[in-house]
Amino acid sequence: MKSLLKNLLIFFFIFIVIAGLFYNAAPSNQEVERISINKLVEEINNEEAESIVIEGSILKVSLKGGGKQSVKKEAGESFSELLNNFGVPAEKINKVNIEVKEESGWQFWLSNLLPFLFPLLLIGLFVYFMFRQVQGANGRAMMFGQSQAREVNRQDEKNKKKRTTFKDVAGVREAKEDLEEVVEFLTSPKKFIELGANIPKGVLLVGAPGTGKTLLAKAVAGEANVPFFHISGSEFVEMFVGVGASRVRDLFKKAKKSSPCIVFIDEIDAVGRQRGSGLGGSHDEREQTLNQILVEMDGFEPNINVIVLAATNRPDVLDPALLRPGRFDRRIVLDEPDINDRLEILKVHSKNKPFIKDVSLRRVAERTPGFSGADLANLLNEAAILTARKNKKMIGMDELFDSIEKVMLGPERKSRMLSEKEKKITAYHEAGHALVAHLLPNIDPVQKVSIISRGLAGGYTLKVPLEDKHMHSKQEFLEELSVLLGGYITEQEIFGDITTGATSDLRTATNLARRMITDYGMSKNLGPRTFGNREELVFLGRELHEQRDYSEKIAEKIDQEVMDYINEAGVKARELINGNKEKLDKIVELLLKEETIEKEEFEKLMS
Ligand code: ADP
Ligand code: ZN
Repeated sequence: MKSLLKNLLIFFFIFIVIAGLFYNAAPSNQEVERISINKLVEEINNEEAESIVIEGSILKVSLKGGGKQSVKKEAGESFSELLNNFGVPAEKINKVNIEVKEESGWQFWLSNLLPFLFPLLLIGLFVYFMFRQVQGANGRAMMFGQSQAREVNRQDEKNKKKRTTFKDVAGVREAKEDLEEVVEFLTSPKKFIELGANIPKGVLLVGAPGTGKTLLAKAVAGEANVPFFHISGSEFVEMFVGVGASRVRDLFKKAKKSSPCIVFIDEIDAVGRQRGSGLGGSHDEREQTLNQILVEMDGFEPNINVIVLAATNRPDVLDPALLRPGRFDRRIVLDEPDINDRLEILKVHSKNKPFIKDVSLRRVAERTPGFSGADLANLLNEAAILTARKNKKMIGMDELFDSIEKVMLGPERKSRMLSEKEKKITAYHEAGHALVAHLLPNIDPVQKVSIISRGLAGGYTLKVPLEDKHMHSKQEFLEELSVLLGGYITEQEIFGDITTGATSDLRTATNLARRMITDYGMSKNLGPRTFGNREELVFLGRELHEQRDYSEKIAEKIDQEVMDYINEAGVKARELINGNKEKLDKIVELLLKEETIEKEEFEKLMS
């Protein structure tokens, strides 16, 4: 707005200057009196005019008495004709000295064209300024079609130390071995081409978020010392149709120029979902973008050494066209890290952090099953921050353990003050979970019970498996249901009332029971089959609808079985709680006093 005003001011300034020039040009014929043609005719008839100089359409008259006058005549009409028309006798005309002067070229053009040119000029200026004004915003709009791929890992020496290499990626040994090959393709392609081998164009990295897909792709570029172009699938999907495709074109153009190189497409499922599924208008756009990616990959000449790495955690939703030979035909799976990998990852990220001597990263690794690489990196960072906030110089075990819980459950909310009554209810609720968990044989040992609220939970009971688990049994699930209901049932038994504190427990329990029946074939009567085809939709990326592949009657049975499992689990939990009231009270007493109970203390209490 401000600059528009400025431009308008400049514009008016120029206008005034030009107007001024014209105004100044006028006075040169000031002493010359302007007269009409009739007057001139009269003067000629009265023999007052001495000479007349004709310059274009201007007649300059000198009078015998010494005055000067000027007359404007119609352009194109000759002066003699004019006089004829006015009926001036020839002898009178002869008495006047008439001279015709050529109007000089530029004067003629200027005088004829300027009246037209001037407004044009003004309009032109105006348009120019308007354009300049919009350019800022416009420029950005014009950039839309360009990919916003970021390039890192340039080949210069300066970056050599900062370059990500396989050393920075812990665990995922098999994935690294597979990618070793890609590095070789990039560094010595000749070897393969000479043998007539086709260098792969696309590699799909499959793994949950935070398992290090981006990191690994960067490491490949770093190992091969080639440029790395990074773009996210969601960046292709913009408001305007066609933008995605043009970004793809631009990205590959850049990549081909700096071949050999790596192009990394994160979240490829954002564009690469099966065509023809999905809601909303973005879906045409995705199709075009996807097509463009395929076209570009098919169009690589054999000697152009660009390898596309793409990341996804949903390979099952990808369009089959993407996975065909010559496209993303290689697939590398990144698993969740197991305990040894976790330890390795912790080591990588603890390099520049000072620890107290008794810190055991192995114990941290033991306590963090299910953590991804990103979670672990985050954990160490949180621990460092926590240490700094305590004004300590070195990170200790306490900070590490606190950070595990923070990453797992969200930050502690000590400020959320519970009233005495609420505190008591929470204590009984958590004690109920802990007690049932302790008494059931297939449940992981209780690691910690707490009535300090964290994230959304009022209190929490942490159970940590002794080893990494990849499978779960029906018995485990049934017991888990009892543990989940332990809090709810305890509240009921002790206070004869129920609070809202159990909401998320109940939801988790219901979902678990339903999955047991519909997904895992763990029902009593319905047999070994799955129910319902879950189709994830692009829209919000969440399960929005479930395709039913069973009848109303079966649906009723499923509901019935879910109820049965939950009720049975409730009965079991009630039995355990009522049979161990003294233990329950002991836990509650300690919880109210100390707010948290650690594993060792808890086990002593129970024995
Ligand atoms: P993704 O792309 O799979 O979502 P990232 O590659 O972005 O995950 O990982 C996020 C961060 O987590 C990395 O920057 C790194 O700090 C850490 N990380 C993940 N996996 C590993 C690993 N295997 N070794 C070391 N650090 C890891
Ligand atoms: Zn609970």
